[in-house]
Amino acid sequence: MALIRKRDTKPELVVRHIVHRMGYRFRLHRPDLPGTPDLVFPARRKVILVHGCFWHRHDCPLGSKAPRARPEYWIPKLERNRQRDVVTLERLAALGWTALVIWECEVRPPAREGLERRLETFLDRP
Ligand SMILES: [Zn+2]
Repeated sequence: MALIRKRDTKPELVVRHIVHRMGYRFRLHRPDLPGTPDLVFPARRKVILVHGCFWHRHDCPLGSKAPRARPEYWIPKLERNRQRDVVTLERLAALGWTALVIWECEVRPPAREGLERRLETFLDRP
């Protein structure tokens, strides 16, 4: 089963694979854009950012986990990551880019089932 075989793949690679297989073409990690988005669709002026739940403090069990070692160091650092993400999305929007954030937990089964439709909806929306 495809879902099981791909289980351990990095979330960003999974998203790239799905989007590519759906026939969309994109560029990777454009450093001239805020946040260096993972997938960039220049003609559509859209970007996809794939975020790890822990590093970007997603509001999910994985993202809410407290770091075991040196929480006094890590928690403010992770909080800064989250704040930076907010600014990044604002800056992208100000430049006319539409952004979609895909979370690591959304790439894992069973959440992955709706992912392809979500990506398609995002990319085909004018
Ligand atoms: Zn998550």
